Amino acid sequence: MVGLIGIAIIVLIVIFSIFYGYGLILKQERSQNPYSSKLKCTICGGTFDKEKLVERAIGIEKVYHFCGNCIQNLYEDYLNLKSKQN
Ligand SMILES: [Zn+2]
Repeated sequence: MVGLIGIAIIVLIVIFSIFYGYGLILKQERSQNPYSSKLKCTICGGTFDKEKLVERAIGIEKVYHFCGNCIQNLYEDYLNLKSKQN
């Protein structure tokens, strides 16, 4: 009886470790994939997810990416320019 429980516990541990290991592999794949879609902001040089950057093609080959913070700063600079002119 004790032997059976011991075997059952060992089997459970083996199954658990297989699932745990599989989960770790999945996690690694998930963390590696988004890394490739990260891009640098042209202005501040910070690294962001591609979805969080505004993309602008300038000329034929140049593509620039801007983060929300830099766009906000640009907008504020523009407002300051306008208020100086008026
Ligand atoms: Zn930026």
